[in-house]
Amino acid sequence: MFRKILIANRGEIALRVICACRELGIPTVAVYSEADRHSLHVRFADEAVCIGPPKSYESYLNIPSLISAAEITNVDAIHPGYGYLAESAYFAEVCETCGIQFIGPAPAVIQLMGDKAKARQAMCQAGLPIIPGTEVVKDDGDTLEKAAQEIGFPVIIKATAGGGGRGIRIVRRPEKLREAFLTAQSEAESAFGTSEVYLEKYLENPRHVEFQILADKHGNVIHLGERDCSIQRRHQKLIEEAPSPAVHGELRRELGEKIVRAMLSIGYTNAGTVEFLVDRQGNFYFIEMNARVQVEHPVTEFITGIDIVKEQIRIAAEEKLRLTQDQIILRGHSIECRINAESPVDFSPSPGTITAYLPPGGPGIRVDSCAHTDYVVSPHYDSLIAKLIAYGLDRGEALARLNRALDLFVIEGIHTSLQVHKKIINDPSFIRGDYGTAFLENIS
Ligand code: ADP
Repeated sequence: MFRKILIANRGEIALRVICACRELGIPTVAVYSEADRHSLHVRFADEAVCIGPPKSYESYLNIPSLISAAEITNVDAIHPGYGYLAESAYFAEVCETCGIQFIGPAPAVIQLMGDKAKARQAMCQAGLPIIPGTEVVKDDGDTLEKAAQEIGFPVIIKATAGGGGRGIRIVRRPEKLREAFLTAQSEAESAFGTSEVYLEKYLENPRHVEFQILADKHGNVIHLGERDCSIQRRHQKLIEEAPSPAVHGELRRELGEKIVRAMLSIGYTNAGTVEFLVDRQGNFYFIEMNARVQVEHPVTEFITGIDIVKEQIRIAAEEKLRLTQDQIILRGHSIECRINAESPVDFSPSPGTITAYLPPGGPGIRVDSCAHTDYVVSPHYDSLIAKLIAYGLDRGEALARLNRALDLFVIEGIHTSLQVHKKIINDPSFIRGDYGTAFLENIS
């Protein structure tokens, strides 16, 4: 097992990794920007190193600073969390060169899955269904128009390096195509450093269903069932639940087996998520793979009893998976709300100081958060301040617990999405489990 792990991240996920390391008896090193000097991950790690000014590209994305911190503190592994450098093949390679274990897949696999147009092709070859679409589309002659006509409108333009719903444009009419293409390209260039985009058929109000997998370095791959992440705003997830109300046992088994085979075929290792959209007829289509731990991993932890972050660390340390597929039993139901510091009206960010913070507890409730009274939500970082996760023996119990936990959650001084969550989970179609990605556009 590792001697010491550096966590190349901040916020709730840095704390989550510290928890996993403590349980495994591994000392931790936190890194922080000048804005995060008083953060909980700095306080609770065994050591902490300042890696630069508040702006992410000068601190949490600053590879030379991170590697120096790792060398000074003599760690033998780095956990990247999610976001930041978690899916940077280059960073994984630099770690490898410096003799530090990157807790994630091999750089070549990160690179393949990080290019969404290539990942589509790879998964199609590996036997997973994909949405009709293209490889990278270039702006020469009438290539773009022809590709869109072939797929049929509406189409969606997506960045090959995309993430967090950025660089996405929906086009319903041919005359809007070129303009949307150019905007998507420039958004992709500024967000991801590459303007490459591709097209897919746009599905109306699909469900977003994703499978959690674990794959060790000894050829063992298992899946931990699925999560439904259809409740989204601006193509970003807001509420996730496991299992999905739209997946039954036989379908889970069939699709799960296909996914496991696909992961074996690309030599995937680490925890990972294979994402699908499901159309109104119930057809599943692969959209992308996330080669890292996901924000929404706790709902799967609740229904499987497996600590996904500890598994990631064990896998990176070359341990074999301790469970086989038939030992994975899904029990009960779990729902997560992402509590963001944002306006409940237009979802615009609401940074500032939290003047009072009191998280709920009680049976079946978990709160993963870095917030506390007097915590300053910085405009430099994303707006997630807490994840509220409920568990129940069935969906009704999970919902009842989530409802009372939302009522007892106190966050004052900034705007949050608490009330939006309350409204969503009490909407009749959410209660029925009958919803798609357009849900938020349709409730008043
Ligand atoms: P990102 O990596 O930015 O999260 P994804 O490819 O995972 O991008 O898509 C994010 C969300 O955008 C999906 O969950 C879905 O709501 C919407 N979306 C993506 N592709 C399509 C599509 N072909 N049809 C309809 N909606 C889509």
